[in-house]
Amino acid sequence: MNILVINAGSSSLKYQLLNPETQQVLAKGLCERIGIDGKFTYKPEGKQAVKEADVAMPTHSEAIKAVLDALVDPANGVIGSMKEIDAVGHRVVHGGEKFAKSVLITEEVMAAIEECNPLAPLHNPANIIGIKACQALMPSTPMVAVFDTAFHQTMPAAAYMYALPYEYYEKDKVRRYGFHGTSHKYVTQRAAAMLGRPIEELKLISCHLGNGSSIAAVDGGKSVDTSMGFTPLAGLPMGTRCGDIDAGILQYLMNKYGMDIDKMLNVLNKKSGVEGLSCVSSDFRDLESAAGKGDQKAALAQEKFAYEVRKYVGAYAAAMGGVDAVIFTAGVGENDKTIRSMVCKGLEFMGLKLDASANDVRGEETVISAADSRVKVLLIPTNEELMIAIDTAALAK
Ligand code: AMP
Repeated sequence: MNILVINAGSSSLKYQLLNPETQQVLAKGLCERIGIDGKFTYKPEGKQAVKEADVAMPTHSEAIKAVLDALVDPANGVIGSMKEIDAVGHRVVHGGEKFAKSVLITEEVMAAIEECNPLAPLHNPANIIGIKACQALMPSTPMVAVFDTAFHQTMPAAAYMYALPYEYYEKDKVRRYGFHGTSHKYVTQRAAAMLGRPIEELKLISCHLGNGSSIAAVDGGKSVDTSMGFTPLAGLPMGTRCGDIDAGILQYLMNKYGMDIDKMLNVLNKKSGVEGLSCVSSDFRDLESAAGKGDQKAALAQEKFAYEVRKYVGAYAAAMGGVDAVIFTAGVGENDKTIRSMVCKGLEFMGLKLDASANDVRGEETVISAADSRVKVLLIPTNEELMIAIDTAALAK
């Protein structure tokens, strides 16, 4: 079964054609600058050819058409015709409280996704445009929506409610939703496989540390808490996002500098996090190199990030009444041994001991805790596309 996975943003579109049964990726690539001019990248697996071309993409339709043309291209294509695409899986950022699982897309589902637009105004409209563009070009191919929020719909009310007037939840749906659900679901399933135990028996803490970062407490395969909130601005400090701060800071800074709320949120979303704190970069490679040369603020940004991750690990162990394994994934989690070791430092009291030489690894599915560590520490490269393809294949069948 071949599944086309589409992750549509406002001006870009990532795609991958893969077989979820064999886990073979047939081709993948990226359409960028949609609505501006158009840049198309295509990489068929196992073939040398990497095509990067200027292709006019006034809308997402031209982008999807370029993808389909490349996939069936006689020279560099990987399938004979579009009929060999059995279903399309779309990443959709926000499913609100309506979607606790992936769903086959129908007219009613499209309307329900559109109803979630106010909750993710930058992302959901782009996801919808991607779905409509695919539907127009492939009208008889089943389409599935896979939501970033769905995995966290199992959280209990005490975890998802904010201590605000109740009417804001009832009338306005203000609550914690959480994101990166597809990644947390994938790595926790892999963790159970690595540990050789049923997921129903496991208490796992999944640390998705990338440019955007979130942590999830997963008890018996179900998300019971997560660090991102109503929006992906909450929780950990990130590349450029501040994470949790005292809401009173907003009033103080807005009054002092005459900022309106949009300007303030621009600072919190785009100028904060490790970049804001370090005055160096949002990229952890740059922080490591600057800290190595004695830059105190870069070192502080690394320390602050690791400290907050460590606090969540402790908090989520308490929330679940124990923990069997801590998982590191995404760009920083998979590649940055310094951050992993800083996070784990001082957690020996709860039976978690990192093995320094096992931790000297990048991007590999492996155990990095010491043999006598009661709490296992796992490095698991995330694979959201595969998770989307697995859900899509199951529903399309
Ligand atoms: P993601 O959002 O998961 O794609 O992660 C992207 C981030 O991962 C980058 O901004 C870097 O901060 C980080 N990253 C990627 N490669 C490395 C590396 N080799 N060492 C440290 N951090 C890395």
